Formats: sequence, C-alpha cells, structure tokens
Amino acid sequence: MIKVPRGTQDILPEQSYKWQTVETIIRDTCNVYQYKEIRTPIFEHTELFTRGVGDTTDIVQKEMYTFEDRGNRSLTLRPEGTASTVRAYVEHKLFGQPDQPVKLYYMGPMFRYERQQAGRYRQFVQFGIEAIGSADPAVDAEVIALAMDVYKKAGLKDLKLVLNSLGDAASRNAHKEALVAHFAPRINEFCGDCQQRLEKNPLRILDCKRDRDHELMATAPKLTDYLNEESAAYFDRVKAYLDALEIPYELDPNLVRGLDYYNHTAFEIMSTASGFGAITTLAGGGRYNGLVEELGGPSSPGIGFAMSIERLLLALEAEKVELEDTSASDAYIIALGDAPKMEAMRLVKQLRDAGVSAEMDYADRKLKAQMKSADRKKAAYVFILGEDELASQTVQIKHMATGEQQLVAIPEAVTYLQKHKEESR
Ligand code: ATP
Ligand code: MG
Repeated sequence: MIKVPRGTQDILPEQSYKWQTVETIIRDTCNVYQYKEIRTPIFEHTELFTRGVGDTTDIVQKEMYTFEDRGNRSLTLRPEGTASTVRAYVEHKLFGQPDQPVKLYYMGPMFRYERQQAGRYRQFVQFGIEAIGSADPAVDAEVIALAMDVYKKAGLKDLKLVLNSLGDAASRNAHKEALVAHFAPRINEFCGDCQQRLEKNPLRILDCKRDRDHELMATAPKLTDYLNEESAAYFDRVKAYLDALEIPYELDPNLVRGLDYYNHTAFEIMSTASGFGAITTLAGGGRYNGLVEELGGPSSPGIGFAMSIERLLLALEAEKVELEDTSASDAYIIALGDAPKMEAMRLVKQLRDAGVSAEMDYADRKLKAQMKSADRKKAAYVFILGEDELASQTVQIKHMATGEQQLVAIPEAVTYLQKHKEESR
C-alpha cells in the first residue's frame, strides 16, 4: 500500500472544516489590519534562499528540498515565505509605491526536510505577514498585535509573547566579538554545528537545541547589554507601543531567530497550555532591515512574522477549544418511495439555489436509517417526504435541536427554512 510521504498528512473532512475556520479568521484579521494577500510560486531559484535566508542557517544547510529541473536550473521548494515576498517587492518595484510600508500577507504550504515530530512536518502551511518600507517602531507593534489577534480570535488564551532586540549592525558586531571571546576557549565542548557557527555566525550558538543546557549558555554576553543608544531607544519605543496596546510581553535576551537577516525587534509567541508538548513556539518574527538590499532592492526596512496553521490547531486542541463546524448541512431530505424521491430531487435543488446547504439519501433506506444519517451529519433540519405528504403537496420539517415538527406546503418549504435559519442565528 502506498502511504503519504513522511512528514506530510492528508486533511480529511473531520479536520478540514477547522482549517477553513482558521483560514477565515486569518483573512478577516488581515483585512481589518489592511494587509493584502500576495501569492508567490511554490518553488523559486535556490539562490533566493541561500541569499535571503542565509547559508549558515539550518534551513539552507539541512532542510531544503532542492532539485534540478529538466533545464538544469537549481530550484527549491520554498521553505518559508519572507524571501519570496521580498523578492516580489523588489521585482515589481513595490518600493516605488507612494504608500509605505507595503503590507502583505501570504498563506500556503512550505517545505522543510525535518525530523518528524508533533508540530513539525515536512510540508506545513504557514501564514505570515510582511510590512516592508518603514522603520517606524509602531509598525513592529502593529505586526505583533495582528499575530496576537489571530490567536485570540481563534479562541486561544494561554499565550506568551517573548521579545528581544538584536540591535543594529554596529550593536550586533560589538556583541559578536564578545560572543567569540566567550565561547572560543571552550568551543570543543560544543557540537560540530556550534563549532562552525563560532566562525560564521556566533549568535546562532545561542539558538542551538543540542547545547542549550551548557553552562556557558546562561553566562553568555547578552545582546541587550550591547545595544547602542539608537538601538536601545528604538526598542523602548516598540515596548511603549505594546504597552499602549495593552499587549503584555516577557523579555528574553537569549531569543535569537534562526534566520540571518534579522535585526532590532525579534519575537516569538508561545503556547503556555499544559500538554502542548515539547515544541511551544507558535509563531516567530522580527525586523529585517538589510534583506531588501540583500535581494537587489534599495535599502528598505521590513518586519514580519510567520506561524503555522498546524501548530495553531495543536494549541487549540491543547486548550480544548472547539471550532464551529460551519460546513454542517442545513437540511437533510428524507424521501420514502419513488415518486417522493423525484419530488425530493427538485426540493434539494431549490434549497441549494436559495443558498441553503442541503442533501438527500441515495441508498433508498428506511426512515430510521435516514434519520440516523441526518443526525450524524449534524443537519439542522430534516425534511420527510412520503407518499402521504406528496399527495397533499406537503413536507414534514423537523428541527433537530428542539424536536419540533411542522407540516409545510412544498412551495413554501424553502422560504420556511430560510426564515427559521435566520431566526436561529
Ligand atoms: P523551530 O525552532 O521550531 O524549528 P523555526 O525557527 O524553524 O522554528 P520559523 O522558520 O521562524 O521557525 O517559522 C515560523 C513558524 O513556522 C514557527 O514558529 C512554527 O509555527 C512554524 N513552523 C516552522 N517549521 C515548522 C514545521 N516543520 N512544521 C510545522 N510548523 C513549522
Ligand atoms: Mg526550524
């Protein structure tokens, strides 16, 4: 038997309605914040990611699905959305638009060759936003507020926002030197990755999952102690805006995002729900003031975040939040006999034409079996149409929640249902 590839999953109807509900919340939230959707290709030139994500990152070094196409181009299934969005911002000269920042969101599958575990897939769906073209710390607060809103609207309560500042290039360089001095004498006690990071990108040692508990980690020089005046002032503004929006946060000087191009604000949103499992990060984001230039555009600052729908759904499960199933049918039509079935076909079509979700039985089963189906399908109303009803051009309409039943003339059935559906809203 052929099964789905490791790290991927089928989303069946009993789950897909949850995805749809969450996707609707996301699109509505982006709309109220006026972020517009951008859709970029699923694969890009490999170079986009080696440059845009950074060739010292885990993503580029270990996780990319890279292949050669039949024209010998090196292409990569996108592992994240920021590089593609910024590429499009440069390629379509969105930096020339009069209104900056350009506020974009994306939602779609991303691909990373990872070890499969709960909350970690090889194909997963990321929703992310990017506000490109403004260095206003108010934008940082807006981006964070949008992410928090999505989780809150979905019904999550056990959330924690963790915040840090990586500072500007000068601050980072001063910090980098201090890091090298701190780790170099004992770097042989660290994993091979960290030994490489010491030369290429020492900041990322702090992000290492294997050496997390090494004693030198806790005593490592903190970025926040190396922020120059300008960077510290910027960070203070971000915090002040978050305070104004009444969004609580925790400061974590060791929070460094995995991607090379971040500076200033870095943040993660975690789930604090008990039983959420080992991976508690729901979303990560931050500022990337050098990325547009790195990808061939003019110097334009940007900030964004990304979250996966998979982890959002896991968090909902951990908090036992039930999402409404808006895909349940309004009406289930039970026909008993040949002639009633003919009439039922017409009735179902009329209901559907009127925008009512309706279906009927195709197995010609007995009343009891059909009632059970209607129940399983969570139909709000059941129509019963037998020979007697047909003779008097009527239909029995039963409201499943109350058990109330009424005899309605067939030509009025559609309006009857519309009216009652409206009232029960
Ligand atoms: P992690 O440290 O968990 O590997 P990351 O730094 O690789 O995270 P980002 O690249 O910042 O994560 O991606 C942003 C968000 O995308 C994460 O917070 C998480 O919600 C989600 N995400 C990342 N990788 C996966 C994956 N393999 N499966 C499901 N969701 C993922
Ligand atoms: Mg990762």
